[in-house]
Amino acid sequence: MDNAGGSGAGGSGVLAPPPPIEPVTYMCGDCGTDNSLKPGDVIQCRECGYRILYKKRTRRSKRISCF
Ligand SMILES: [Zn+2]
Repeated sequence: MDNAGGSGAGGSGVLAPPPPIEPVTYMCGDCGTDNSLKPGDVIQCRECGYRILYKKRTRRSKRISCF
């Protein structure tokens, strides 16, 4: 009796979940509004449309990551 079914265990079909993307907060160079942007987003102020944003430095406790 043939068991018809191709849904067996594949080989390399395991996809690891991507690491969480933390948005980076930028400060507008014109109006000073905070804009949290993800990598790939357009660097532009959402309030005034200014395209020069400054990266803010978060004052969190430093975590030493060994990558
Ligand atoms: Zn702005």
